[in-house]
Amino acid sequence: MLAVAPRKRNLSNEASKMPVYQSQTARTVAMTVFGALFCMQIAVFLPGVFGRYVAAGESIELAEAARLETALRYAGPATASAAPESLLTEALVSLELTRPDGSVLLSVDAREPQGEFDITEGTGPGRPVNLRLTTLEGPMVAHGWVSLHEQRSTAWREAMVSSLVALLVSLIGSAAALMAVSRHFLTPLARLVDTLRTGREASAEGLPHRVELDTTQDLHLLADEFNQLVDAQKKTSRQVKVKQQYLEFAAHHDPLTHLPNRLMFEDTLKSTVKQAVAERLQFAVFLVDLDNFKFFNDQYGHLIGDKMVAEVGNRLKTMVRDVDLVARLDGDEFVVIQRDVPDREAATAVAERLMKVATAPYEYRGFTLKAAVSVGISCFPLDVHEGQDEELLGEEIVNNAAVALQEAKGAGKNQAQLFNDSMRSRLTARIRLEQDLKIAIAEEQFEVWFQPKINIKTRQVTGAEALVRWRHPVNGFISPEVFVPVAEEAGLIIELGEWILRTACRQTHELQELGYPGLNVAVNISAVQFTDGNLLPMVRRALDDTSLAPSFLELEITESAVMHDPEEVIRSLHELSRFGMCLAIDDFGTGYSSLAYLKRFPVDTLKIDRAFITDISSDNDDVAIVEAVLGLGNHFNMKVVAEGVEDEDQLQFLKDQGCDIAQGFYISKPMAFKEYTEWLQRWPHGVVPLAASNKSEGATVLPIAEHVARRAQR
Ligand code: C2E
Ligand code: MG
Ligand code: MG
Repeated sequence: MLAVAPRKRNLSNEASKMPVYQSQTARTVAMTVFGALFCMQIAVFLPGVFGRYVAAGESIELAEAARLETALRYAGPATASAAPESLLTEALVSLELTRPDGSVLLSVDAREPQGEFDITEGTGPGRPVNLRLTTLEGPMVAHGWVSLHEQRSTAWREAMVSSLVALLVSLIGSAAALMAVSRHFLTPLARLVDTLRTGREASAEGLPHRVELDTTQDLHLLADEFNQLVDAQKKTSRQVKVKQQYLEFAAHHDPLTHLPNRLMFEDTLKSTVKQAVAERLQFAVFLVDLDNFKFFNDQYGHLIGDKMVAEVGNRLKTMVRDVDLVARLDGDEFVVIQRDVPDREAATAVAERLMKVATAPYEYRGFTLKAAVSVGISCFPLDVHEGQDEELLGEEIVNNAAVALQEAKGAGKNQAQLFNDSMRSRLTARIRLEQDLKIAIAEEQFEVWFQPKINIKTRQVTGAEALVRWRHPVNGFISPEVFVPVAEEAGLIIELGEWILRTACRQTHELQELGYPGLNVAVNISAVQFTDGNLLPMVRRALDDTSLAPSFLELEITESAVMHDPEEVIRSLHELSRFGMCLAIDDFGTGYSSLAYLKRFPVDTLKIDRAFITDISSDNDDVAIVEAVLGLGNHFNMKVVAEGVEDEDQLQFLKDQGCDIAQGFYISKPMAFKEYTEWLQRWPHGVVPLAASNKSEGATVLPIAEHVARRAQR
């Protein structure tokens, strides 16, 4: 801190610029220290001085007693001679010592029990006194004097000297203290003067501004300058504080809805679980997810999508108390923690209220928007394994709510689902499956099987679809329909998918080398792989390493996966297509493709879902669908593959309708590589020759839109 001498000036706003309190504080501190030290010195020395004075007084009194005795003995002739020594010891009753003005100096009763004269009062120095004695024979008066001047003045002198020494020591000590205090307060001022004069204050580049000062006004200017610096610093520190508060807020809140984010949700969950365990409280977690939000976003645009998310978030917020929490976890996913929810009925009632408020229509710039939401609910402690670590309890309750949410979505969306025991066992099985999958990938427990496809007209084999098989060491074969979705969710499909692709390419190339150079292979690619961003480099590496030409590889992506994120998939498909690979839309007819998107896909093949083929002979609707897909393929110059062909009638029907390729149990079930090799040798119609199967020789790979354009030109 720095002491600055305050300037005398008008009060008003000047005073606010010049914080006088700084010099007052300094002075107050200095004076306090000085006063304290002075008092300490006085306190130490005064008793000494007083002691000396008392001691001097005692010696005076002793001397006085002696003089009195002498005076009695030698008082004037009339009395002194008549006052024998025995008078003092035997006949003296009382003694009174008076001053010439008649005031009593000393009065003693000789008949005190101790029988001694006790002189307790002193006398003035060197003054004559009258001695009035009362004896058994009557009163007597004697004249005498007491000369105490010398002793008393000596005592006073000594006392005075002691006092002066004490005062001097005290002054020196206090002065030293004051100097120390002044140094403490003044040195920074001196430093400031130096700093300002040499211009070492902070400027834009971290260097000082130059300060020109009038020497006569140095101190005031310096004080002003200094105080301005202090004010600026205060302002900066206020700004820093506000910035810190903002950063703190931003770290824990979502910028779109201003609701708490995942981080804050995790903190709150932790403390809620802790409190619930300690105080045996109940609470419930609700995961609220907007239904079909992607579609909503695509249809109305991201701006309106954002408005919708913010609106739903704010509405949910109005439904909970201050002790509860609404947080935004992800794009369209919210979480609510509500305390004091005693049972599942109460939780369901809360979920219904949340759904009602979230799905109420909402007007925005002439649009009437209406969200649909699904809710997954988990109750604490009803749905958790009590007794475990608090962190695990938190994880468990959120996982439970997530499973319940999935269930709600799977059961048709726009509903709330409570977590229950059957979900728990599915969850346990799912977790076990995921663990087993990790081991299976590490131990390569998978095989790639091949299901042949034939050209319906010639019945020659054109290639095969590669289908993964998991031979579980305990449970035997597990269907890809069971484990592929789990691998997708756990992100394991990336590694597994690469292994499948490499194996399929390698083995197909082996077959080409064995004498079937026209054989191709179709590999299923998961939506997760498509949106991963590394698909093209991964595929190129696999082709390079296995020496399979790109045109012999067909990548199948399901229609539903395509529609999951059409823009991203279109981008990936174009990249892959440019590289020369064939692309097929799998399970076509089941995924509600938008034809608007379809014409932008650079696909070569449509694979009609087997559900439509199975009932082809009995269901007219299916016939219509198959005809429509064939018409679409024909129109856009795409191959159409019929999956799930199980008998000759179906094959004949497809042939009559102009379908290109068939795949199904009627031709062959999927087979392990060795069996496939043997099957190829047995197949009576042979394998397509090289030229007919190659992409460059077959259908030109162009987006449908381009096909349309070319057709129009023709
Ligand atoms: P998908 O790609 O549509 O594969 C065709 C499924 O239909 C195969 O089942 C095949 O065995 C079955 N199938 C073929 N012809 C017939 C038939 O005539 N009748 C009947 N009832 N079924 C037939 P699979 O191998 O169980 O595969 C099921 C699904 O699992 C596949 O459907 C595909 O979506 C997925 N999948 C299989 N292998 C892979 C893979 O390597 N990667 C990825 N991402 N998914 C795979
Ligand atoms: Mg497939
Ligand atoms: Mg299929």
